[in-house]
Amino acid sequence: MIERSLRISSLFGAACVAAALALPLDPARAAGCPGNPDALGTSRTLVVDPLEHPRIGTMQYPETLPLRDHEVVLTFDDGPLPRESNQILDILAKDCVKATFFVVGRMAKTFPDGVRKLRDAGHTIGTHSQNHPLSFNRMTVEQAQQEVDQGIASTLAALGGDRAALSPFFRIPGLLRAEAVEGYLASRGIQTWSADFPADDWRHVSPDTVFHLAMSRLAAKGKGILLLHDIQPRTVAALPRILQALKAGGYKIVHVVAATPNLPKTPTTPQEWRLHPAPETVARVRWPKVPRFVFANEQMLPVPEIADIGLDRGRLLPGSVPIRSSRLARDQVPTPQRSPWPRQTSIESPDNLIALPVPSASLFAIPERSTPAIRAMVPVKADRAARQAPRLVRNVSERSTSIDIGAAARPIAGSVGIAPEGLQRGPLDTGSRPRPLNH
Ligand SMILES: [Zn+2]
Repeated sequence: MIERSLRISSLFGAACVAAALALPLDPARAAGCPGNPDALGTSRTLVVDPLEHPRIGTMQYPETLPLRDHEVVLTFDDGPLPRESNQILDILAKDCVKATFFVVGRMAKTFPDGVRKLRDAGHTIGTHSQNHPLSFNRMTVEQAQQEVDQGIASTLAALGGDRAALSPFFRIPGLLRAEAVEGYLASRGIQTWSADFPADDWRHVSPDTVFHLAMSRLAAKGKGILLLHDIQPRTVAALPRILQALKAGGYKIVHVVAATPNLPKTPTTPQEWRLHPAPETVARVRWPKVPRFVFANEQMLPVPEIADIGLDRGRLLPGSVPIRSSRLARDQVPTPQRSPWPRQTSIESPDNLIALPVPSASLFAIPERSTPAIRAMVPVKADRAARQAPRLVRNVSERSTSIDIGAAARPIAGSVGIAPEGLQRGPLDTGSRPRPLNH
């Protein structure tokens, strides 16, 4: 019942606000701020739909009010407390600034006149529970409902039942949010307000600290909802400086009211409800995906069988020929058995491959020692060559030639000597010119 009547009263009140907003020119704005030509003023009124955006304030939620850069919404909690709250109202009035007040039901019950002053000054009035318990995150839904409902009832009572003066805005005490509480508030069409930045004015800090925290945090975010308390003397002391700095810094005050069927919401885009929406053009870091390799003409090498390897649990299979068992002929080099799987195949290089020049033979020359043993290869006559190596005798030249085989002449055990056709290993020489064999 309460929520239904609250909504209905909001509709009526909204109609009045709409009528005022529908005027071609706001008389107060047109006339400026009476008595204060340098007033900060209120730049615009933002109409929001709590049903579309049930939770706002980047201190706790993804969304916040759709403010433009350098726009600020002032909020005050925990009042009314006559001495401080009245000073706050005077300071705001002097600069023609409109704010939102979250009233505690017990305070409204004790100081109902303070609630009416808020309404008469044109500020937005939300609620802040009945007793301000710092346990909304632990209490049952029934307890939370009772706190919410009683706070609304007490505030309404202070307003003499003027439901139009009460907005469906609620701030959880201590910002101790809980899903169940937020769900309940949303079901009633009440918007849960967190904030974008506080000024720590409920702590035991100086007004100077409150001022600096408010301005530095605002500067960091560029815009947003500032959380203050109208029951704190330090806030009273800091507020004039804050308003002055806002004016000097080019900040604009925005007044927020709830939408109703007769008061349409301010047109916005979903992105505007983010404090810093990511532009669509921002490059995002994407990790490369792991590719799925698909092999064309997939061919697999045959798996060698144990019989091919010739091993059976470490023992040689019958029929296999161990390398060492075969007798090697003289000068024969033992080579490993041919493996049963394919050997490395040569890769044909493409035609356009740039070929490196063949390195000069001098690069591989081994410098001679001081007393090297040089073997000269000398030509042999055909008959002798035929007798010694008949297969090598072909077109043997009688002319004496020689090659320097240097250190390469050192024989490797088991290797076969290599020599040009028609040449044979000559006698050791001490470096003198090789001489023909028949001389
Ligand atoms: Zn509070």
